[in-house]
Amino acid sequence: MDGNAPDFAAASRAALADPELRGNFRRAMDGLMSKRAAQFADTGEWTGVRALAAAVRLRALSKLPELLEKLEETCTRNGITVHWAATTDDANAIALDILHKANAKLVVKGKSMVTEEMHLNAVLEQDGIEVLESDLGEYIVQMDGTMPSHIIMPAIHLNTRQIAHLFKRKLKDAESREDAAYLTDLARRVLRAKFEAADVGMSGVNAAVAETGTLCLIENEGNGRMCTTVPPVHIAFMGLEKVVERLEDVPPVISLLPRSATGQPITTYVNMISGPRKDGEKDGPREVHLVILDNGRSGIYADPELRDTLRCIRCGACMNHCPVYTKVGGHAYEAPYPGPIGKILVPQIEGLAKRGAMPHACTMCNACVEICPVKIPIVEIMGRLRVEAVRPGGAVKDGGAKASRTESMVWSGWAAMNASPTAYRLATAAMSKLGNAAPSSLPVLKEWTNVRTKPRFAGRTLHDLARAKGIPDV
Ligand code: SF4
Repeated sequence: MDGNAPDFAAASRAALADPELRGNFRRAMDGLMSKRAAQFADTGEWTGVRALAAAVRLRALSKLPELLEKLEETCTRNGITVHWAATTDDANAIALDILHKANAKLVVKGKSMVTEEMHLNAVLEQDGIEVLESDLGEYIVQMDGTMPSHIIMPAIHLNTRQIAHLFKRKLKDAESREDAAYLTDLARRVLRAKFEAADVGMSGVNAAVAETGTLCLIENEGNGRMCTTVPPVHIAFMGLEKVVERLEDVPPVISLLPRSATGQPITTYVNMISGPRKDGEKDGPREVHLVILDNGRSGIYADPELRDTLRCIRCGACMNHCPVYTKVGGHAYEAPYPGPIGKILVPQIEGLAKRGAMPHACTMCNACVEICPVKIPIVEIMGRLRVEAVRPGGAVKDGGAKASRTESMVWSGWAAMNASPTAYRLATAAMSKLGNAAPSSLPVLKEWTNVRTKPRFAGRTLHDLARAKGIPDV
């Protein structure tokens, strides 16, 4: 394993040993799953709107370079300054440059997964710039010094008691009250003062419309609107896949996203940002910047099979339904994107040397594929990444990093055995006779038998058992 590679297995074991964490996730996920199910009770409507949203995303990806050029042109016409970042370092440098020119000391941020990918907060703090997350979940996580555990609900791993305890420790004058309304009001008062004092506001982008140069941002707390309208400078960050062709492509996306994510028919706020404040207007920032991040996405785009990864609208539904994520929670992945989408996206942008374990953290049950509102074949992509991890020179960064001589010999032997009827009969007969004698501590069995009972072999092959029941060979 790469020395810097997060140890998913160890982190999962720690998460599984924490009953409060498991309880928090189970309760939250059960609630989200039932709310989502209520939204899509009409299966005909679900099938139709899902096909429409998938088609919108596929069409956008089919002409991505052209749409990105168009987006730059229309945004520029609207007065939005567009910046291109090949890497997260480039994106951070662009952000710092804008902040230095604005002489910024305080930044308020709305929710943005791309800035998590960039580790932007750490970069700004290192530069002496105060940065405050304004989404309530992100604010809690920032106060706790941890990272989001879910892409939509960053603090879902904590219950009210834990948040009350955190506020009591960190906020002056906080009372020890396990009361969600009280805690929200407390956070609102702190944040309100910061919105008014901030030099720069930052946000993500849910969809950027090439036709009109409009940045769409949906949210529930109004903090996104405050970040994008109150400070004199607004910087929006997006991955290059977030572009859509036309304004009419937005409704299917912003309808499916909250319904899939939290079971809401629509978010409380739908922001459509079309440029800085114009002469005579009373509010809005005087500068709007759009940072478009690549960070490996061009490479993903170049592969027709892996390209489907870029369809994602970041609803988080795949996490809520994943039997692995719902047990171990988001922090076990130690990644900006956890759960099923994380297992296919993060290895492609960070490389298989560091993230080769992620595609294996999957039972291949297909629940994420069934639930994904834009029909991403997550499990197929996961299978492909498992192959890429042991195949040097493939399409994915650090392809072959997990290649192992022993594993390759085992699979060659397996292939040879299955290619020859005689070898197959001999091997299965030997396994059925000797399998029960093999100790559970054998290296090849240990990973399985550490946490499970070793299965008992029947003592006869399946063919023998079938013949005994009168089923003829075919
Ligand atoms: S992969 Fe599908 S279900 Fe998962 S976050 Fe993306 S759009 Fe939502």
